[in-house]
Amino acid sequence: KVRVRFAPSPTGPLHMGGVRTALYNYLFARQHGGDFILRIEDTDSHRFVPGAESYIMESLKWCGITIDEGINEGGPHAPYRQSERKEIYLKYALQLVGSGDAYYAFDTPDELNAIRAEAEAAGKTFAYNYEVRTRLATSLALSDEEVKRRIAAGDQWVIRFKMPENEEVRMHDLIRGDVTVHTSTLDDKVLYKSADALPTYHLANIVDDHLMEISHVIRGEEWLPSLPLHYLLYRALGWSDTQPEFAHLPLLLKPTGGGKLSKRDGDKMGFPVFPLQWTSPEGETSHGYREDGYFPEAFVNMLALLGWNPGTDQEIFSMDELIGAFSLERVSKSGARFNPEKAHWFNAQYLHAKSDAELAALYAPILKAKGVDAPAAKTARVIALIKQRATFVSDFWNLTSFMFVAPEQYDPKSTAKFWKGENPTRIAALRTLLAGIDDFSKENTEKIVFEWIAQNEYPMGQVMNSFRLAIVGTSSGPSILDICEIIGKEETLRRIDKALE
Ligand code: GLU
Repeated sequence: KVRVRFAPSPTGPLHMGGVRTALYNYLFARQHGGDFILRIEDTDSHRFVPGAESYIMESLKWCGITIDEGINEGGPHAPYRQSERKEIYLKYALQLVGSGDAYYAFDTPDELNAIRAEAEAAGKTFAYNYEVRTRLATSLALSDEEVKRRIAAGDQWVIRFKMPENEEVRMHDLIRGDVTVHTSTLDDKVLYKSADALPTYHLANIVDDHLMEISHVIRGEEWLPSLPLHYLLYRALGWSDTQPEFAHLPLLLKPTGGGKLSKRDGDKMGFPVFPLQWTSPEGETSHGYREDGYFPEAFVNMLALLGWNPGTDQEIFSMDELIGAFSLERVSKSGARFNPEKAHWFNAQYLHAKSDAELAALYAPILKAKGVDAPAAKTARVIALIKQRATFVSDFWNLTSFMFVAPEQYDPKSTAKFWKGENPTRIAALRTLLAGIDDFSKENTEKIVFEWIAQNEYPMGQVMNSFRLAIVGTSSGPSILDICEIIGKEETLRRIDKALE
């Protein structure tokens, strides 16, 4: 059975890349009738950020990603928060010591720093490996009695994985294919620390993926360097037969192309990188897609196509369509460049596809805040005229305010251009003409006004633009007689009178 997990560490807000990882896991699970599990990997207590966990869950919920097993949902492998599974991990760390795949190390931070300095002086990078393993402060060199004595005396210890010497680790990745790494390039990672009685990421992750019967690990490319260690851990624990398959997703790149999209890029470049607005414990607020007015469907659609393509020209996908079309084979190996304009484009597509009534309901609170009390039917008619020009619901006010309130100012440029010569006199005559019309539908008024202009041989552009200026206050917007129909005869005449004052 397909069982996948999204395993974030609550060290801060989830960024777009993290949401994409969750999304791909979710799509894969749903496509195969499998389970999607949310596991919180909070064993690094130093990096814990309050609020991050609920932020993660709220983000997934906003995106429409539903969880089958998790910290709130429960499930057969509960608890799903690693800090609540503490007791589980030591047993496996000790099993690895027993089988000779791991060892105790008693080095103090000072000693480790000294080794680091030594390595640096010798022009080598620090790696706690073969050379270091001959050190006296590990169970590889100390007698069992001495190890027991030190532990009993309360000396701090860690358990390190004993990287096998001189071996090719052959791995398979569903996106990258076969990968081989030589163990001489790998060091002895810490698996467990006595100081906080907690496992490190590597041990907890492998143990939980095994116990939770995870079939596929789909995660970010930054974990690829850990894959050899993970393979070796499965082997050392005797779990190779049931080890999950792996797929490492490509990075999200900056819009400018230069490297990985970072959490800080958004506020620097003026677009959100977080699904929801986030206020850090220090009180700094970052933009979120939700608060910036994106529809979750548009955000999810955009994100799905950042690193995956359907192999066709189709760009608009509902969640269900994504579940049907997604495949790991079509995930690209190379990084996906994020394009903020494309994010706008997606939102506009979803906005244009919504009904006028639906959009009117979304616009209603904005109108209310502006002090406008308009019937929903009128709002819907207004939206029909302008929605093709909007990207966000928040664009509506600028595009439609004149439908609800008379202009308070007249754009000086348009005034200079059109409110001159005979135009004001013509508009006064137009007022008389309009005052005599009862049927204010656009079809009717347009016919009468155009005939009047033709009969008098007025310049069409001049008259219509000065008319628009009187009604709207600028020289842009939808067809002027559409506007007059919506605001009605009385209001049309009132606005003309005001302009003529
Ligand atoms: N806790 C890791 C993270 O925050 C999970 C990596 C994995 O999926 O194995 O990304």
